[in-house]
Amino acid sequence: MQAFLDNQGRPKRLYILINPFGGKKLAKRIFQQKVKPFLSAAGVSFTLQETEYRNHAKELAKSMEISQYDGIVCVSGDGLLLEVLNGLLARSDWKMAMKMRLGVIPAGTGNGMAKSVLHYGNESYNVENATFAIIRGNTHSLDVATVVQGQNVHHSVLSLAWGIVADVDIESERFRGLGELRNDIYSLIRITRLRKYRGTLAYVPAPGYEGSLDHISREDSDLLSSSIPDMNIEKGQQWGGYSGSMSVPEKSEWRIMNGNFILVWLMNVPWATQTVLAAPKAEVIPVRNLKEPLSDGFLDLLIIKECSRRELLKSFLKLSDGTHVKSKIMDYLKVRAVCLAPGGQVNGGVEGGYISLDGEVLARGAGAYGDGSKDPMCYGS
Ligand code: ADP
Ligand code: MG
Repeated sequence: MQAFLDNQGRPKRLYILINPFGGKKLAKRIFQQKVKPFLSAAGVSFTLQETEYRNHAKELAKSMEISQYDGIVCVSGDGLLLEVLNGLLARSDWKMAMKMRLGVIPAGTGNGMAKSVLHYGNESYNVENATFAIIRGNTHSLDVATVVQGQNVHHSVLSLAWGIVADVDIESERFRGLGELRNDIYSLIRITRLRKYRGTLAYVPAPGYEGSLDHISREDSDLLSSSIPDMNIEKGQQWGGYSGSMSVPEKSEWRIMNGNFILVWLMNVPWATQTVLAAPKAEVIPVRNLKEPLSDGFLDLLIIKECSRRELLKSFLKLSDGTHVKSKIMDYLKVRAVCLAPGGQVNGGVEGGYISLDGEVLARGAGAYGDGSKDPMCYGS
């Protein structure tokens, strides 16, 4: 693979996927006007493929001839990238396929990955800079998180959300025409008509974060011996199986929280979208204090349990610069693994709430997913 890179590591042959449906449906035009001329000038050849339906990109990534390309570029939002990743990891030669370079030209509603990568390279976020980074062959390694629910395994590179952020991701789909504004407007609606979801959240703190949520009650901790982490430790062979780096957490490493939640949000990279710096600490590896935001080996976890609408609004207004994490309604820590068991809604919303993976719906509430499994959702980096 990557047989065609030049001697400076620049790609010569790319497989380019365009999602004509993403964002404001401008991806084709963005490619023709702002990307193609630079690729041609740089002597990069490419195969162009428009996606025709949901999951098309996943199928293409699963069946494509990977030896023919130096990289796959998505002209899209984060959703298409997620499909490509899952397609590559569903291949029998996934170990090989994982080495494939992935690139993204921001052309969707949510472009958290493009923003995170450009931010890390100290570049401003725009289509041209994303194109130049691809042409120059700039690469970073990236953690892949594995989500296991019953028999289903998914892979994620960006985020997992439950509660208000998931409701906004999923339910605002119908306001697609508004572009990025749809998130802001629908967030306001959801803050005004605030919902809470019942559930259980278990997590394994990263080194240095073991005592960070000391308000967890003794009874809650005692629940550790209950079935949730147990069940998933049994399925542990799947945990992080693709990243190869994660060992199965011991039972004693788990912390557990019960009750009503407004938000549970896991981030693998700093930016959830191009304007939401959800996890500013995704920049720093705990203990070593090194900056490796895209592959620190941990997930950043944000939790809101109880708060007033006013406090929530104040906190959400700070999402653009990351200072929301300092607000007292928000718990923010780094974790190695998480297990989430939605238990029902308190006041509105679908039973159990949505779970959104990299901005796409992964589950509609407890028991409504795919095989009807009621298994908790587990997420490990
Ligand atoms: P956005 O950020 O606007 O959501 P994405 O690139 O993330 O844009 O894509 C959103 C979804 O569009 C993806 O889940 C993908 O499966 C789907 N999709 C891709 N091609 C098409 C198509 N031709 N028609 C409808 N949906 C599509
Ligand atoms: Mg990370």
